[in-house]
Amino acid sequence: MLMRIGGEDTEGVTEAWIDVKNPATGEYIDRVPAGTKEDISCAVEAAGAAFDAWAKKPMRDRGMILYHAARDVRGQYKDLAHLLTREQGKPIRESSDEVRGFANILEFYAGISARQDGEALRLGTAGDCIVVRQPLGICGAIIPWNMPVLIMGWKIGPALLAGNTMVLKPASSTPLTNLRLAQILEQAGLSPGVLNVVTGTGESAGSAIVQHPAIRKLSFTGDCATGYKIREMAGAYLKDITLELGGSDPMIVMPDADIDKAVEGALRGRFYNAGQTCTAVKRLYVHEKISTLFLQKLKNRVDALAVGNGLESKIDIGPMNSAEQREKISQVVQETRDSKEGTVLTGGYKMKGTAYEQGYFYRPTLVTDVMPDSPLVTHEIFGPVLPVMTVPDLNTAIHEANNTRYGLGASIWTKDLGTIKRVFDDVKAGIIWVNRHLTVPPEVPFGGMNDGGIGRENGQHALLSYSQTKTLFLGW
Ligand code: NAD
Repeated sequence: MLMRIGGEDTEGVTEAWIDVKNPATGEYIDRVPAGTKEDISCAVEAAGAAFDAWAKKPMRDRGMILYHAARDVRGQYKDLAHLLTREQGKPIRESSDEVRGFANILEFYAGISARQDGEALRLGTAGDCIVVRQPLGICGAIIPWNMPVLIMGWKIGPALLAGNTMVLKPASSTPLTNLRLAQILEQAGLSPGVLNVVTGTGESAGSAIVQHPAIRKLSFTGDCATGYKIREMAGAYLKDITLELGGSDPMIVMPDADIDKAVEGALRGRFYNAGQTCTAVKRLYVHEKISTLFLQKLKNRVDALAVGNGLESKIDIGPMNSAEQREKISQVVQETRDSKEGTVLTGGYKMKGTAYEQGYFYRPTLVTDVMPDSPLVTHEIFGPVLPVMTVPDLNTAIHEANNTRYGLGASIWTKDLGTIKRVFDDVKAGIIWVNRHLTVPPEVPFGGMNDGGIGRENGQHALLSYSQTKTLFLGW
């Protein structure tokens, strides 16, 4: 597929290409141009040319275009989900959820388009003020490979509704569904140049977005280390910036919890998307009174998970997205074994055999008796490996939960209101779930504390973050 700049498919100026392959089979799917700094400049020019007309449209009209796009995405969700599974690896059921989640986001923003924020201030003898919100201008978006469709929605929904135009760069391994969605948005009425998609590597196309002076706001989702680098690069320019970075979410299970429900929560929370989710359950703290029973039940469920090509039916877990990601996971588990910093209860190996040979499959893994300073606990583990720790009481659980540089999400599994309040008050995370984990509907503000990031996506908060106030001061 080609890049989408100013409403046209284009190879850009580059002569280099990036192959997109199916992580389950190694099969070549398509190729995209490796966009360059010049391609980003063209995209910024197209976004600049489209800006005035788009910003001056009534917000309601912009919302209607998002609404029509959502309808078309729903109409084509099977094809889109199929494409997403082929490039990303996740089971088709999860891809379908993600595509429908994208439509939900557009519908949410279309739905609030009638509610334009502003205020009137009466200042007595000084006069009166009318405060309105205006778009920021051209925005940049950089997307990761783990949830490429949902995260595209989180960025374009509020940015476009607020009246901005955008240059978006997908991850190198998952550009195809993002490109397809940009075409659908244009077919639904988005004017050429409002949304431009430039494919390419982070080092080339990505850093050109970060450093383009005409881009007023940058929204990045990805790894912490990249986030730090981007913040430094962007620091030379006066840009608004949202960073959605890594997570190491704790899940705490107390003795009064519904154990079966909590087991299912841990299973989905950790192994959804082969564990490659920012708010996955990455550390599980179980109260010692129930830990034996809980672990037995969880192990049974983990052992029953079907791993395979996401396009096949009855598959629970697909491959990891790349050989590199799988290698990282494999190494950290091996180091844990070697250093005796934890015991591998089940899994802990790359899958072999004809069905798995060409793909990046890793058997879902539970590790118990994990030391608090093990990399399994201190680092973000972006794959299907769950460290389980037994805790004697809530205080210890909260202390351990906060013993991290991250702060994206956390969950508490209990029926006790006092316990819920304690965790909500004392655990440092952008979202605290009670008796669930992972769910983030479009209404809910989402983002991390500490190294989890800067700013919030989703909901009304994101819409505000893509606009600025402008005041009319009437000095009668
Ligand atoms: P990554 O940082 O490697 O890449 C993310 C994007 O940044 C890609 O498009 C990449 O090409 C681009 N990029 C890389 N280097 C760049 C540079 N120097 N300049 C500009 N762009 C650059 O991350 P990833 O491996 O794709 O994604 C996984 C990470 O994303 C995990 O840490 C995960 O927790 C995090 N994540 C966070 C959220 C959230 O909302 N907080 C959501 C999903 C994923």
